Amino acid sequence: AWPLCLSHLESELPPEEFITWLKPLQANASESGGDLLLYAPNAFVMDMVRARYLARIIELLRLVSGHEAAAARIEVGSLARAPAPARGARAKGRAAAPEEDFVTQLDHAYTFDNFVEGRSNQIARSAAWQVAQNPGQAYNPLLLYGTTGLGKTHLMHAAGNLMRANRPGMKVLYLRSEQFFSAMMKALNEKSMDQFKRQFQRVDALLLDDIQFFAGKDRTQEEFFHTFNALFDGKQQIILTCDRYPREVEGLEARLKSRLAWGLSVSIEPPDFETRAAILLSKARARGVELPDEVAYLIAKNIGTNVRDLEGALNTLVARAHFAGEPITTAFAQEALRDVVRVHKQAISIGNIQKVVADYYQLRVADLLSKRRTRTLARPRQIAMTLAKELTSHSLPEIGDGFGGRDHTTVLHACRQIRKLLDTDGVLREDWDKLFRKLTE
Ligand code: ADP
Ligand code: MG
Repeated sequence: AWPLCLSHLESELPPEEFITWLKPLQANASESGGDLLLYAPNAFVMDMVRARYLARIIELLRLVSGHEAAAARIEVGSLARAPAPARGARAKGRAAAPEEDFVTQLDHAYTFDNFVEGRSNQIARSAAWQVAQNPGQAYNPLLLYGTTGLGKTHLMHAAGNLMRANRPGMKVLYLRSEQFFSAMMKALNEKSMDQFKRQFQRVDALLLDDIQFFAGKDRTQEEFFHTFNALFDGKQQIILTCDRYPREVEGLEARLKSRLAWGLSVSIEPPDFETRAAILLSKARARGVELPDEVAYLIAKNIGTNVRDLEGALNTLVARAHFAGEPITTAFAQEALRDVVRVHKQAISIGNIQKVVADYYQLRVADLLSKRRTRTLARPRQIAMTLAKELTSHSLPEIGDGFGGRDHTTVLHACRQIRKLLDTDGVLREDWDKLFRKLTE
């Protein structure tokens, strides 16, 4: 029942909230009568979930499990180290070795096996793999960067899991940057900074996710800088992710940026169509869902390049088919995905595209709409029209109207020309990719 609850929550909540608070939870299915025991990675997450989401979780649980009295509770822990059914022994509950107390926060669901390789992520994947095989020796730090939803976190966990598979007991700590920040604030408040620092001394590898979060937080950066140095000197592996190239993150200290450059920085690019389809098929297979190839193509074609959105669409589809008791045919998918796709396309307007394209080429929007046909204007204008066709659900005549009252054949011609050039003109391709990403992020 938990995966189903989760997919509901995912569609109800802003992605950041979902990822920060609900995604890290693990569910223990062994409870009876449809009850649910959730494990939170730490007290912080537990308190938050209890305060803000537990009531809704219980509602959903009752709905999807069919048990009207189903209950849910939450504790700190993880499935891997869930206490074995006590058999009276071990009167002293805390007699376990300190090693066993180490919480990695790694998500075992993310592995190299279930990471679909494509041209867009090959280098990042291979770097993460090498680092996991030779922690502290191959590249330190390893930094993965790229926009949201492209698999950075997935690769990071995969590397952590592989390290621990190779060297059981290795202390790999995964932390989101928010967690680093809030743990540090807590330590400052409670005057326990020494303890805060010490906890990093005993890790063999630190995986810190989304460091762009540190931008503008000077004290956190300073603390992280020291942590970084200590780990680096101790040859402890550091893996970091960032949503763009760190040099481009404003509010990140120069000395930190230069440290990051000591290791290897690799980008993950948005997946191409084939990779998107392959990812969908792989996710479906993993969930035991029968997904026809055509449906995978349909989703891959209609949902941009963000893998998280692809998964969201797949989840929606699976949930709807489940409730309708129908198989996932192309017709069913078309119907079910209509809302998802529309929401996607609506977010981007023609005006928005014109603004972004004009900014990019340092033109004025009025220039794009004007009748002037100089080369410097014509190409950006054609690109903007093509983006409008691809990213909105407006018709050709509507787009023509939006571009200063042009004829729909002009728009059609622009789209054909740009699509042809995209295959042959590298510079145009690069501009296009950047604009596309700017608009779909
Ligand atoms: P990021 O950290 O870059 O924002 P995530 O690692 O959270 O992105 O990826 C978002 C979702 O997409 C995850 O569920 C992840 O498993 C999935 N995903 C991304 N890339 C791939 C891939 N190449 N193969 C399989 N799943 C992927
Ligand atoms: Mg991430």
